[in-house]
Amino acid sequence: MPRTPSPATPRLPLAPPPRTRRRLRVCHECDWLVALPPLRPGERADCPRCGHTLVTRHAQPAQRSLALAMAALVALALALGFPFISFEISGVGNRIELYDTAASLVHFHQPLVAIAVMLTIAVLPALYLCSVIWLQIGLLRRHPLPLSRGIARSLVHMHPWMMADVFIVGALVSLIKIASLAAISLGVAFWAFCAFALLLLLTTLSLDRDWLWFSLTGEPLAPAGSRTGATAAEQGLSGCPTCGLVNRLDEQGNGRCRRCGEHLHARLPNSLQRTWALIIAASFMYLPANLYPIMVTTHLGEAHPSTIIGGVVQLWQMGSYPVALVIFIASVLVPVGKLLALGWLCFALRHRAGRFRMTRTRLYRLTELIGRWSMVDVFVVAILVALIRAGALMSITPGPAALAFAAVVVLTMLAAISFDPRLLWQAPRPPEKEASHA
Ligand SMILES: [Zn+2]
Ligand SMILES: [Zn+2]
Repeated sequence: MPRTPSPATPRLPLAPPPRTRRRLRVCHECDWLVALPPLRPGERADCPRCGHTLVTRHAQPAQRSLALAMAALVALALALGFPFISFEISGVGNRIELYDTAASLVHFHQPLVAIAVMLTIAVLPALYLCSVIWLQIGLLRRHPLPLSRGIARSLVHMHPWMMADVFIVGALVSLIKIASLAAISLGVAFWAFCAFALLLLLTTLSLDRDWLWFSLTGEPLAPAGSRTGATAAEQGLSGCPTCGLVNRLDEQGNGRCRRCGEHLHARLPNSLQRTWALIIAASFMYLPANLYPIMVTTHLGEAHPSTIIGGVVQLWQMGSYPVALVIFIASVLVPVGKLLALGWLCFALRHRAGRFRMTRTRLYRLTELIGRWSMVDVFVVAILVALIRAGALMSITPGPAALAFAAVVVLTMLAAISFDPRLLWQAPRPPEKEASHA
């Protein structure tokens, strides 16, 4: 893997043809300005300062993304059109389709959770896949289709909220939870959804954003006087988080990308205040999420409410140790760990930002990566509520904690998004200067 030059290297030699211009990029995590080396398919360029991947090149990116996106869309259509899971207990049974997971939540007065489930597992992924297909068809015809720039810009914002893979884990946990109580059979849609989740993941990995924007609109030259081996902020520059282009900012440290139109800031405005506010809001929601039952199981006319921790203990007592561990990690360790980690990162910025910044950057990456996996428990509730409907014999209804817990997941994800990792690499400032800068 070729790496971009070390920070000590002041300048790189010019890239050989076909790219005759130096293509500059700013690392989104540490704000270091680097020149991209010429990359062959399968290679990637990492930031020499913090190791963040700047660009990944693929062979035949348009054909690859187009094929994967179309296959994923077909798999999603199959997953929506066929039976998902069915269960039977003492001759009474129920069969559900994928959209029943949201419809049942609406029936039990949990419309917000239902919207969150449908958006994350089907609506946003479908929009994302259609967008990829639209863009790549235009590029293959060598004439971008209308609205291509706006659509390409929206891809970045949709990406963190697609959770088909988390839903699969939720479905597996649900199955193990009820396997000993009822006879379960998996429908065509279950397997189609597994294929869809995998293809969606491959589509997101296949998307070469740098190549996409270069092919859509070409690349304007970097602002005059830009020099590599220094931070963008100290030169009054900023790298576009959407298309990667280096732009000059105004005196206030704001601007707009010349290529994609995205709003740019030397640092995200009020990043610390927003992150703190979201952390505090998520911490408040975490209390009802754990104190109230997340679902109520009615078995032979007797109601058994269970909290998140109660569910973990029950699974442990049933001997399902791996599932108990999955739920404990996803529903307890991850949200708490994420809140503590983000709180620590915000707190640490007030002190010597120069020390341990690589460790803090890794911690930030981890919080970004794992946050969405907490949705497992919300998906388990959605699936079980839809599936287990055998009246007094056995039925499951959602508890008030489901909404609170979904809110915790969304708020912690928003907190991670609103935290600007470039602050971790910023030289320490006196408190009053820091405040005026924010
Ligand atoms: Zn970096
Ligand atoms: Zn841009």
